[in-house]
Amino acid sequence: MHPIPKNEFTDVKKMYTIVSGKGGVGKSLVTSLLAVGLRREGFEVGILDADITGPSIPKMFGVSGAKIESDSKAIYPVRTHNDIRIMSMNLLLNKEDAPVIWRGPLIAKTIEQFWTEVGWGVLDYLFIDMPPGTGDVALTVFQSLPIDGIIIVTSPQDLVSLIVKKAYNMAKQMDIPIIGIVENMSYVICPHCGKEFDIFGKSKLEDVAEQLDLRILGRIPIDSELTKLCDKGEIEKARNLYLDSCIEVLKRDVVE
Ligand code: ADP
Repeated sequence: MHPIPKNEFTDVKKMYTIVSGKGGVGKSLVTSLLAVGLRREGFEVGILDADITGPSIPKMFGVSGAKIESDSKAIYPVRTHNDIRIMSMNLLLNKEDAPVIWRGPLIAKTIEQFWTEVGWGVLDYLFIDMPPGTGDVALTVFQSLPIDGIIIVTSPQDLVSLIVKKAYNMAKQMDIPIIGIVENMSYVICPHCGKEFDIFGKSKLEDVAEQLDLRILGRIPIDSELTKLCDKGEIEKARNLYLDSCIEVLKRDVVE
């Protein structure tokens, strides 16, 4: 394992990565909601969008077209409406929908540079939206950045098929603390009456959390308000973040 590089332009108190066993389970959404929640409480927050092949973070915050500033020392993250700092491959490419067809080592190198060459400034929290899955890129990122903890995002189906175990095993292998697990799309809220429906049957979250000795950090329903806000680039306006207990856990890490 090579030594973790330092970033001289940055003072980050805590760095957490958000991982999932596979794509499309809402990893970027969870990253965004945590950032929004902690920013609302007055913390300085950044997001390093390491999901290079499908970077959706700038879109959720409505900053896809923002211009990256740089000087001779560093390049600087863009700032959202509420002053969350974001760096993403999406911001460096000319076209938002241009596919990034790169080999693993180059992706891993780019992510490392997002840490070493970006002037993040002083942050309480830096969240890393990891590429989905548990391949080489993810492993390299874990070795290249000084990560304090991992948050695992899962879907009801992942819990049944135990895809979530892949993410769990990777964290264990890297010897990085697992903060806990979030189940996304766990139930549905009716947009008309607000009633909750367990469309996937009884959640397996408690069983799996007990089996793997993981803390449950939250359950997020399928909420059409969230889909709309993601599409409009207005995730900072979300009324319900559903992640209060996760935010409390992360606050304790910084405040104590
Ligand atoms: P991942 O990062 O795991 O690939 P995303 O967080 O980008 O997945 O989620 C993909 C899309 O699915 C989001 O843009 C959002 O519109 C939608 N989505 C995810 N979770 C929810 C949810 N709980 N409620 C409503 N829409 C959701």
